[in-house]
Amino acid sequence: MTSVLVEPAERGQRPVFDTVLVANRGEIALRVVRSCQEMGIRTVVVYSTADSRSAAVLAADEAVRIGPAAPRQSYLYAPPIIEAARATGAQAVHPGYGFLSEDPDFAEICARNGLVFIGPEPSAMRQLGDKSTARKIMTDAGLPVLPGTIDPVGNVGDLVNAANKIGLPLIIKAAAGGGGNGMAVVRDWADLVPKFRSTRSVARSVFGDERVYIERYLENTRHIEVQILADQHGNVVALGERDCSVQRRHQKLIEESPAARISPEIVDRLRELAVLGAREVGYTGAGTFEFLVQGEEIAFIEVNSRIQVEHPVTEMLTGVDLVREQVLIAAGRELSLRQQDVRSNGAAIECRVNAEDPDNGFVPRPGELLEFLPPGGPGIRVDTSAYAGWRIPAEYDSLVAKVIAWAPDRERALARMNRALREFRISGERVRTTRDALRAIIADPVFQEARHTTSFLEPQGP
Ligand code: ADP
Repeated sequence: MTSVLVEPAERGQRPVFDTVLVANRGEIALRVVRSCQEMGIRTVVVYSTADSRSAAVLAADEAVRIGPAAPRQSYLYAPPIIEAARATGAQAVHPGYGFLSEDPDFAEICARNGLVFIGPEPSAMRQLGDKSTARKIMTDAGLPVLPGTIDPVGNVGDLVNAANKIGLPLIIKAAAGGGGNGMAVVRDWADLVPKFRSTRSVARSVFGDERVYIERYLENTRHIEVQILADQHGNVVALGERDCSVQRRHQKLIEESPAARISPEIVDRLRELAVLGAREVGYTGAGTFEFLVQGEEIAFIEVNSRIQVEHPVTEMLTGVDLVREQVLIAAGRELSLRQQDVRSNGAAIECRVNAEDPDNGFVPRPGELLEFLPPGGPGIRVDTSAYAGWRIPAEYDSLVAKVIAWAPDRERALARMNRALREFRISGERVRTTRDALRAIIADPVFQEARHTTSFLEPQGP
């Protein structure tokens, strides 16, 4: 006899929204669909022509095509997304990560159209989205930052003055930057002005905002971040830290928790600072405070006001479904857990299997996947929207699958990850992936002993 589960997972309770529209693609769109469906919420996924057969489109209750592959005409273009929400009766929009997720204008457009934006208030997003402003606000709130400029640097005279005070090496960053773009490290005085000009022009063309600021560059640092959840009733909880120090081109490749070889005192301090910072801007939703840690020194770098790629690491340790919490917070519910209720168990690590060529500067190498057999077994979670026969589009980021391994301790988590990556069969025409490079990192004694820093993969600098 077969039985069909027709009721929402929360029996007896009306879901917080009838329908949520997912304004994103790839693995995160599928991830959001999954939590919503478990909550008894109908899901609508929007998609571009490149994604018409995506796993998120197939899994959603409804899918609406919004435009061609080019992001500016689809995932970055609000009008057809809002139209799709209205046409399908959605009450809320989940923006995922990237694309419109940190765009306060989009959050306002949603509100004007009677849609709940699943994310922080536009005012908080606006303050945090500008990295230079965020730095200023957090300094005033008492968070430590690296020596640098308080306001963006507009001309060469100001640049040279500020650089003389800060010293070398320093980093030039686009105020509107993100995703490792719009940043340049200056190690040589001769590079200062040319890199200032080139970063400004990249910032103008990629982010439509040429403002840049500078701060001291820390060599051999660790990137440690804190996941927070905040509701609309003033409750803020720090769920734990993630170490994201394995990077290429200032972009994360491996993330793990707990942060190995970082003292509990530092981790506690980072959690306190993240909660303090969140309260300062009236933050609501899920968010991440990012810090650099070098020895005993801590420096705040930025806040990401959205769900992050590496959120499963925290989910594996705490058992909290972060997407579900985002939805509940947006619906006005109080956080279901207090700081003292947060439990963290074991160790988790995430590896990003990207369609990139590790032997050639990690340049994207998308194409059609001919073989795709993800790993499984105890303690393994794979978040992906790929499958054999799927053509990885060249228009979007190169992430194909996130492999997350959980175990009672770090050593076993690494062994499990190694096993999982080995088991992962992934190949395709012209496709190259980071799979083997990830295995080599996991096996490297420097990483195994947690002596790595953000310069581990690119010791000469990105
Ligand atoms: P994005 O918003 O583009 O992700 P971030 O400001 O978060 O940029 O920085 C990304 C990465 O760049 C950090 O994790 C770190 O590795 C490096 N980085 C940024 N600022 C500094 C700095 N002042 N010193 C050393 N490394 C830095």
